[in-house]
Amino acid sequence: MDGKLRDLSVLIIEDHDFQRMVAEQTVSGIGVKQLQSASDGQQALDILSTTGPVDIVICDLHMPEMDGIQFIRHVAAKKLANSLIILSAQDPGLTRTVEDMAQVLGLQVLGSLAKPLCRDRIRELMELYFGEKPEQGKAIVSRELQFDQNSLQQAIANNEFTLHFQPKVLLKSGRLVSVEALARWQHPTAGLVSPARFIPLMENHGLINDLTLNLLDHALQRIEDWQKQNRQISVAINISPLMLSDTNLPDLFLAKVKERGIAPSLLTLEITESSLIENTALALETLARLIMQGFSLSIDDFGTGYSSMQQLNRIPFSELKIDRSFVHNASNDKTQKAIIESNISLAHTLKMTTVAEGIETLADWELLNQLGCTMAQGYFIGKPMHSDQLEDWEKAWLAQQPLNKPS
Ligand code: C2E
Ligand code: CA
Ligand code: CA
Repeated sequence: MDGKLRDLSVLIIEDHDFQRMVAEQTVSGIGVKQLQSASDGQQALDILSTTGPVDIVICDLHMPEMDGIQFIRHVAAKKLANSLIILSAQDPGLTRTVEDMAQVLGLQVLGSLAKPLCRDRIRELMELYFGEKPEQGKAIVSRELQFDQNSLQQAIANNEFTLHFQPKVLLKSGRLVSVEALARWQHPTAGLVSPARFIPLMENHGLINDLTLNLLDHALQRIEDWQKQNRQISVAINISPLMLSDTNLPDLFLAKVKERGIAPSLLTLEITESSLIENTALALETLARLIMQGFSLSIDDFGTGYSSMQQLNRIPFSELKIDRSFVHNASNDKTQKAIIESNISLAHTLKMTTVAEGIETLADWELLNQLGCTMAQGYFIGKPMHSDQLEDWEKAWLAQQPLNKPS
């Protein structure tokens, strides 16, 4: 097991100098591949944005400036760590709440530790890293790869980025109505790299606009190909929060769709709700102009950020995506089911379409259909795939319909 631990990258965040030194010595005594440390949340985020994601973050909760809880939200939103160990067991109730929060945000929670650290206990928790992991954990393929600004820029220029498309289908009929476009990097030596590895770096190096505009061409090509077959299937692309402060974005997007004679409503822009908070005035201007020009706006990962209701109140989204952390396995969990029900009712009152993400089983599908959700997306229907595979997928999928017993 120690051999495996030697492959890990770890970041320690602890504001107290002496405690931090103890933690560093304990972890380096276990022997890991990469060990970094920071004295507050902001410093830790800066480090991770430059060096890329780590396997394990060991985080104190009580810190001045950005506390551990805020840090966990940011690190999860930016997908800068796979898993978490919480330091500070003074208040078990608080620790438990934070563990739940981190889990909902998609982090693998290895456990909590009291200070001072005991080497055996921390080793035990680190070994849990090799147990079952959430999807985000698996996405990060190889830490040997370090991408600097030049190589990222060059990769965009070389057209190494492409899109995989994941179907969004109507729950009532199974019919394909849209696809979500998900970025992939076809790296010449590393193979297919997942977005968790490069989107935060692109954002950090000011390259996310260039990348998204490059990918937009692939997305529009997909819409055009369907249009040639007289099919009005929309494509959704993901928009980084940082892009919303660029108020030229709506004009750029409009020019791109006009060039190809595509109706703006066939392009859906998926925006993660937590992202809207930054730079609010500029973001609101950009969003308002995108809506005015006829693009469809979708609020992504709904329910995982904060002030969701306020975002809905301010921006007329046309679609609400219920986060997969609420969807999968909801038939066995009363709280998840209640959250989904209230999200659907809210969205439908506001005349928004609902999409359930992360439908992985027939039970998930049947529950969401019964609850009146409009669309479904997830591995049960189809994994993200190359554009060429969509036709075969659709034939096979339609051949299985109807999935629901007539009521
Ligand atoms: P997202 O927007 O929430 O996209 C859905 C993610 O969930 C995708 O991961 C997809 O492969 C995965 N997924 C779909 N169905 C299931 C399921 O049934 N179960 C599970 N466990 N997972 C499922 P992917 O492709 O790795 O993308 C991760 C994230 O990267 C996206 O999350 C999005 O936030 C970001 N991203 C992807 N492409 C772009 C892009 O072009 N621009 C920006 N700014 N972000 C992007
Ligand atoms: Ca999305
Ligand atoms: Ca999502």
